[in-house]
Amino acid sequence: MTAEMRVQSLDILRERLKSFHAAGMTWREIACEFAGVPPGTLCAIVKGREPRKPDVRKALGLPEIVRVTGCLRCGQVHVSRRCTHRRRAYRDLFSIPPGELTRMIRERVEVTDL
Ligand SMILES: [Zn+2]
Repeated sequence: MTAEMRVQSLDILRERLKSFHAAGMTWREIACEFAGVPPGTLCAIVKGREPRKPDVRKALGLPEIVRVTGCLRCGQVHVSRRCTHRRRAYRDLFSIPPGELTRMIRERVEVTDL
């Protein structure tokens, strides 16, 4: 493995591990490629687990997990400290843009406020 490993997504890593294993490598052999990562962890990742330990994530080239707090007013995550979520008023369901309507349905937004 190269000394400087680029950050990769979990799906890409999972596919790589799967292909190594499918090619006949044991988890122990695959683990030699990732210093400090136990073979069982690699197997668990392929089975769907996401590693949480920062040192394991770094060794696997996964991005850090960052804890963020949602806005107290709207529940979304903003970059600015002030709430940037605008609540738009719509006359009726037909005046809501399709993308926004899809989001509202998905998030089960109360439509009695219209
Ligand atoms: Zn907000």
